[in-house]
Amino acid sequence: MSLKSRFCPKCGKETEKLLDSLCSSCYSGKPNVKVPNQKNVLQCVKCDMIYNKGFWTRPKKDIESYLIKRIRESIRLPDGETLIDVKLLELGKDAELLIRSEVGDEKLERIINGKFEIKKYCCPACSREQGIDYTAKLQLRATKDHAKFVEEALSYIREAAPKVSKVEPMLKGVDVYLVNQRLAKQAARRIKKHLEVTMRESYRNYSWDHENDRPKRRITILLKQKLRK
Ligand SMILES: [Zn+2]
Ligand SMILES: [Zn+2]
Repeated sequence: MSLKSRFCPKCGKETEKLLDSLCSSCYSGKPNVKVPNQKNVLQCVKCDMIYNKGFWTRPKKDIESYLIKRIRESIRLPDGETLIDVKLLELGKDAELLIRSEVGDEKLERIINGKFEIKKYCCPACSREQGIDYTAKLQLRATKDHAKFVEEALSYIREAAPKVSKVEPMLKGVDVYLVNQRLAKQAARRIKKHLEVTMRESYRNYSWDHENDRPKRRITILLKQKLRK
């Protein structure tokens, strides 16, 4: 036993140095120490952009360093203790974080178990392209040979409007969601020219266009295969 050894008044463990009159493990768990056990960074699965400071932006460095920065910013250490570095030993739902710091010439290490994740998400711009904020919907309805009718109609849609955002199978055909209304109409005209269909358009207001002070409208175009006698 070294002459310098002392005992921690809290846990009774023998230690060479007392920090704020506690052993280093008791000191680490003091209530004035604040370490996060959960932080995440949202990243879009489609375009790889991340949500940072209230905006979706293109990341300038690797995503993990954004997460580390976010963790660092939420760490609170008592006066006299300084943060050395933060390392993610394991990422995810069962993540492990290593926080290294020092008090005087004493080095401290804290291992934190928690959720530190890069969460996969779909950013608003990509959601729009997915058809969640579409402006045109083409309803293709077959009376016979469903698959062939849909396939042909889709090929005309792709020619006119290459940006098809979503195709949803329905009982007698498909619903096709498009971002661009003008191209959707073009596609519908093309289908009408090549296939025997009846066409019906309808509009619905879905929000207000503040810039032009008028309602934003969504168009639905029903293209129904004619029943041949
Ligand atoms: Zn102790
Ligand atoms: Zn995106």
